[in-house]
Amino acid sequence: MVDFDIIVVGAGPAGSVASYLLAKKGHTVLTIERGKRPGSKNMFGGRLYAWSLEKVFPNFWEEAPIEREVTREVLGLLYGDDGIEISLNGKPKAKSFTILRAKFDQWLAEKAEDAGAEIVSGVKVESPLIEDGKVKGVIVEGEEKIESSIVVAADGALSFMAEKAGLRAKLSGEDFAVGAKEVIELSKDVIEDRFRLEENEGAAQLYIGDITEGVVGGGFLYTNKDTISLGVVMRIGSLSEKVSDIETTMWNATERFKSHPLIRRYLKGGKLLEYSAHIIPETQFLRGVKLCTDGMVVVGDAAGFCVNYGLTVRGMDFAIESAIAAAEAIEIALEKGDTSASSLRRYEEVLATGMLREFEKAKKAVDLMEDQRIYTSLPKIAVNTARHLFHVDGKPKEGLYQFLRRSISEEGISLLSALLLSWKALKSL
Ligand SMILES: Cc1cc2nc3c(=O)[nH]c(=O)nc-3n(C[C@H](O)[C@H](O)[C@H](O)COP(=O)(O)OP(=O)(O)OC[C@H]3O[C@@H](n4cnc5c(N)ncnc54)[C@H](O)[C@@H]3O)c2cc1C
Repeated sequence: MVDFDIIVVGAGPAGSVASYLLAKKGHTVLTIERGKRPGSKNMFGGRLYAWSLEKVFPNFWEEAPIEREVTREVLGLLYGDDGIEISLNGKPKAKSFTILRAKFDQWLAEKAEDAGAEIVSGVKVESPLIEDGKVKGVIVEGEEKIESSIVVAADGALSFMAEKAGLRAKLSGEDFAVGAKEVIELSKDVIEDRFRLEENEGAAQLYIGDITEGVVGGGFLYTNKDTISLGVVMRIGSLSEKVSDIETTMWNATERFKSHPLIRRYLKGGKLLEYSAHIIPETQFLRGVKLCTDGMVVVGDAAGFCVNYGLTVRGMDFAIESAIAAAEAIEIALEKGDTSASSLRRYEEVLATGMLREFEKAKKAVDLMEDQRIYTSLPKIAVNTARHLFHVDGKPKEGLYQFLRRSISEEGISLLSALLLSWKALKSL
């Protein structure tokens, strides 16, 4: 006799959605979260694409603690003290929201609890309980064993659960990016004025350029109700080639971003409320992470379902979608009374017909964004060309085409490579 039908490790979006769906079906679910409460240890940039959570909670934004609905997109190129911003305003066809994880994760976990899941916070799972080659539960701090028919590993980017169950190899710096984020307080009116927003509308602004000093990555800025989420994402592989002290490098890049003339005017008069940093899994799933073994499935970041496009990160919606697929497979496996890997493989099949297709596409975009010149030469050429275009001092000036050709060749790139580079950058967005 097992203690629970399902044990879910981690109460992030993946864990809470899996817990909610399975508890709603009448199964006994124990969700173990190492943070003091769900969300307390979690951070992200700021934007949740709604499509997957909508399947679980239609119109969730009417009750969930969302901050603002994104209606303004900005793409920025920074070079020196100059910068170009391209903005798109209006009603998007698909909804997305800015959120703050501490509140949002707590709300999702409460949904799971209301559906009947038992959530225990402040307890760390040490490893899966493996007997006769099968996962039969978990071992928590203090060596206590808790048994279940199935374990859902939703323990995020580092997932020791997946590693200890032999579903993936030990990870290295190459497998991660790192993100630093600040939350800055500003009044609601100031935010709406500065970002040209109506009430409840939000802005999502992404920047590349010399703030990351040639490292693959970029800056982000999202508007919340009365705060701004701002930060920098940099790829660790790319970072570690250049620097030894990653923490200081991240801090310096965030300071450079914040003090750029284009950015600092958004923040004027703001008060720093918090600073945090977190790692981001690269697309590890595509590098051979297995999704199930006898008695256990892996969901969300733990499976590497997160895409770092260089200047933007997307993982919340994938985490939720993978939890939906896992819950469906677990439900069928429990009904059959067969929780072997082959029975749980339905999880992979469901993903293969949907989310994984998008993932393959994302992988291509990530490969394109590896070219460091996208983060260095491209913003420099674009900003300098725009500066040249608007420059008037009464003296005859070089034609735009000649200027562009010269700027490109000064970067050591041919015209054709520059076109290809711009094409790559556009294609990957
Ligand atoms: C800087 C940054 C910016 C990002 N920006 C965005 C963005 O704008 N939009 C977007 O969609 N995604 C973004 N992401 C990615 C997104 O945060 C993740 O993809 C998402 O949180 C994955 O959800 P998850 O539930 O799989 O994992 P997590 O949210 O990491 O949750 C894992 C949970 O497991 C718990 N846990 C871990 N180990 C244990 C253990 N041993 N025992 C018990 N509990 C444990 C943790 O405390 C945590 O609550 C960003 C990430 C970072 C770092």
